[in-house]
Amino acid sequence: MTWRVLATPRTFAGDERAEQLLQEAGCQLIRNPYGRLLTEDEMITLISEIDGIIIGLDPLSERVLERATRLKVISKYGVGLDNIDIAAATARKIPVAFTPGTNSAAVAELAFGLMLDAARQISASDRQIRQGQWGRFSGTQLWGKTLGLIGTGQIGQQLALRARGFEMPILCYDVHPDYSWAERMGASYVTLPELLHRSDFVSLHIPLNSATHHLIGGAELEMMKPTAIIINTSRGGIIDEEALYKALSEKRLRAAGLDVVECEPPENTPLAQLDNVVLTSHIGAHTSEASAAMSLLAAENVVAALQGGRPKFVANKEIY
Ligand code: NAD
Repeated sequence: MTWRVLATPRTFAGDERAEQLLQEAGCQLIRNPYGRLLTEDEMITLISEIDGIIIGLDPLSERVLERATRLKVISKYGVGLDNIDIAAATARKIPVAFTPGTNSAAVAELAFGLMLDAARQISASDRQIRQGQWGRFSGTQLWGKTLGLIGTGQIGQQLALRARGFEMPILCYDVHPDYSWAERMGASYVTLPELLHRSDFVSLHIPLNSATHHLIGGAELEMMKPTAIIINTSRGGIIDEEALYKALSEKRLRAAGLDVVECEPPENTPLAQLDNVVLTSHIGAHTSEASAAMSLLAAENVVAALQGGRPKFVANKEIY
C-alpha cells in the first residue's frame, strides 16, 4: 500500500528520521512544489490526490476539504490551528493532529529576543549604522520589570522561565489558569485589565479564534502604561493593528515586537514605518531543534492515522 503524503512546510524533515519513518510506512512524500505558502486554489489542485497532509500555515478551508476525497489525516506542523477548518474536517471524520511543545522553547526565545530588541532598539541602531549614522538610543531595562503573560500554556510557561533569570515579576491571564505552575513560578493570575494596567512588558501566547480575535484593541491598549512594550508571537489577528499603529505612532505605547501580523506576508503595513516596532517574518518556531522535533512528531501522527491508529495529539477527538 502506498500513501501519498503532501508536506507543505519548507522546513519539514529537519530530522531525517521523519522522512525515513514515512518511507518505511509506505508513504510517498510530496513536497510543496512552490517553495512558499500555498494559496487556497493551489491547495485545491493538490489535495484530491493526497492521503495525508503535513501542513504549515497554508489554508485548509472547507473549500479545500470538499475536494479532499482521499484525505485520511491532517497533521499540523506546529500548534496554531487557525488556518484549518476543524469543523469541516470533523464533519468528514478526518483527524486533525498537531505537535504541542515541540516549538515552545524556540518561540519563547524569540519572544525574549523581541523584548530585548524593542527595549534597547537593537534593530533600529543596526539600521542606522548601515545608513552611515551613529545615533544614540536611550532604552529601558528588563531587569526587575513586570512581565504580563497572556496565555500560560507551553510557550507562555517557557517565557516565564527565561524572564525569571531577569528577576521579572510575572502577572498572568489565561482562561484555564495553571495555579500549581504559578505557585512554583511565583507568578500571579490577575484579570486582563489588571495585567494590562500593571505590566511593563505584555507578551501574547494564546490561539487565534473567534474569542481572541482583536482581544487587544484600542480600549485594551489604552489600559497599558505609555512606557510599556507589547510582544506578539501568537497570531496577528489577536491585536487590532490599526489601533496598535495609532497607539505607537502617538507614543501612547513605547514599542512593539511582532513576529506575526494579520496578513502574511504583509503588504505595505504602516507598522513597518515606525522605528519603535521590531518585525520578524513569523520565524518563532524556526530553529533547527524545533524543526526536527515538529517534523518527527508530525510524521508520527500521519503514520499512526494512516495505519488505522490514533495520532498522539488530536484536536478533534470527538471523531473517534
Ligand atoms: P498552548 O495550547 O500550550 O497554550 C495556549 C494557552 O492559551 C492555553 O493555556 C489556553 O488556556 C490559553 N487560552 C486559550 N484561549 C484563551 C483566551 N481566550 N484567553 C486567554 N487564554 C486563552 O499553546 P502554545 O504552544 O503556548 O502556543 C500558543 C500560540 O502560539 C499558538 O496557538 C500559536 O498561534 C502561536 N504559535 C506561534 C508560533 C510562531 O512561529 N510565531 C509558533 C508556535 C505557536
